[in-house]
Amino acid sequence: MGAMKRFRITFGRLLPPWVVLIFIAMVLTGGPRYSHASCSTAPSHEEIEMLLRQYAQSYPEIAVLVEVGESVSSRAITGLRVSAQPDEEEAEPEIRIIGGIHGNECQSVEEVLLIIEWLLAGYQTDAQLTSFIDGVEFLLIPLVNPDGFSSSPPTRTNANYVDLNRNFGFGWSQQSVFEPFSEPESRAIRDVSQAGAFNLGLSYHTESIYVNGPWNYTPFHPRDDALIDAIGDSYKADSEYEVVFGWDWYQISGDVNDWSLGTQGTFDWTIELTDGDDAVWEVHEPALRAFISWAFVGVSGAVIDAQTGLPLHAMITVEPEGEPVFTDATKGDYHRILLNGTYEVTAWAPGYRPLTVENVTVAESVTTVDFALTRKAAYTAGFQVNEMTLPRDISNSYVALVGYDNDSIASDALGVHDGYWYSIGAGGDITIDMGAAIAVEDAPGPDLLVASGTRSNDSARVWVADHQDGPFVEAAVGSGDLYVDLSDLNLAAVRYVKVVDESDVAFNEAGSGYDLDAVENLSWRVLAPPDGDTESDFPDYDSDTMLPDTDTQPDSDNRNVAATQSHAVSGCTMTPQHPAFTLFSLLFAN
Ligand SMILES: [Zn+2]
Repeated sequence: MGAMKRFRITFGRLLPPWVVLIFIAMVLTGGPRYSHASCSTAPSHEEIEMLLRQYAQSYPEIAVLVEVGESVSSRAITGLRVSAQPDEEEAEPEIRIIGGIHGNECQSVEEVLLIIEWLLAGYQTDAQLTSFIDGVEFLLIPLVNPDGFSSSPPTRTNANYVDLNRNFGFGWSQQSVFEPFSEPESRAIRDVSQAGAFNLGLSYHTESIYVNGPWNYTPFHPRDDALIDAIGDSYKADSEYEVVFGWDWYQISGDVNDWSLGTQGTFDWTIELTDGDDAVWEVHEPALRAFISWAFVGVSGAVIDAQTGLPLHAMITVEPEGEPVFTDATKGDYHRILLNGTYEVTAWAPGYRPLTVENVTVAESVTTVDFALTRKAAYTAGFQVNEMTLPRDISNSYVALVGYDNDSIASDALGVHDGYWYSIGAGGDITIDMGAAIAVEDAPGPDLLVASGTRSNDSARVWVADHQDGPFVEAAVGSGDLYVDLSDLNLAAVRYVKVVDESDVAFNEAGSGYDLDAVENLSWRVLAPPDGDTESDFPDYDSDTMLPDTDTQPDSDNRNVAATQSHAVSGCTMTPQHPAFTLFSLLFAN
């Protein structure tokens, strides 16, 4: 009762009457009660901040405030973590839900507030919502762009006139003077996402009836296409919503969906809300139940060091193939959502020997597979895609007209050299995170190898940095395999390696530009080899074919393997867009 009394007093002092009414109605009836409104009647940024604070105070057992960051004009970007034991990192799947990345899409802000109320009020009153909160860590951020939202009238862009949903650093392309993650709002979402390990995401927008999945930057469907379709279908259910492959609706570069899947392994969706009527929550409530349930389907477990038992920040890959996902470094837990079937699951952490478990069966629930990895210095290589920029020639409508055949996938540049590579594309670039656990240090001899998949004439320039926002220092230039010695640069250690294509080829051809197979950390092999470690079991190349000299490599139909490069991707139809339509879409949607 003490808590209740305090909460009433706070209400009376701080909150406007409409907030009090909504909150009391929610508490009394066990469900969200406010209907969608236009920007003119939406709560202000200050009111949303107060509301989030009130939620955390009223539900201390399951909700805690998260200071995500600040806008250009120093307005707070605040989130709410909702989970049983919300102050602790638990070995649970994580879901990120955001709204208001476009400041004039006020309904998307209110939708996330509705979801917060729904989750909180459902705890211990609704069996399924209780199981969600007990089993998932939610991070809900109702308003990513408080400056645009607070402008009069509200604006799509932030205070620097940047569209934040074009400012994320994957599949980004040159559309303005701004660089990827130039804005504090997009950096805030990036940083809070990197600090966790999100398995699912929802990004709410207005105004349409689309459930939009990746990719948005390329006509080639992602490796997890069937899974992404299934998740989208479950959100849509029997509503009027249409599930669309992003590129087929309209093409954009640098959005949250593509960055989330391409760098974090997060299955993230753009949900375009219809305007106005009260029926909208009746559509999204069952949709959210179906969507969140996917967190409990697939393979899950922990990755630890076999000797010390300590949790590892590790990459999880599956065969049949999908994008890599990553453990949460705090507990070493991973959650790989999968359709029913039988899989090979591989865990790898920089400095450890990869370990594969075969014949893992998934059948509408979670199958547990734990990994204990042994150290192996030879496997110290690129761990995570940090950023990826498309060739500068690419504009969305232009690509739709002239075609784009580069079907290579950025994550194929990760790990040791294996005959799979990412074709950067003429003028494009990729930045590889070598991982927080093992720095690239200055050791005798070269410290980094940038391994070419084809040793073609395509040339590249290599830059290194110890922070993802730079400054980057130029480290090497040339074609084929490139080596970096940090002592030449007067650098003690680096973590990020950026490879910028400098070749003179058409941007849109297959295998265009430098073919990045791997970035390997040579220094750690010198500085910290485990006892008895040799490179004898390092995957060998056949020097003629450039193929790995092993039959353990997975066969795959959507990877770039030397001499057998294939551009046929089943189920993918390129849909040329009318330029006028594309322009219209770019201006007004998503
Ligand atoms: Zn939008």
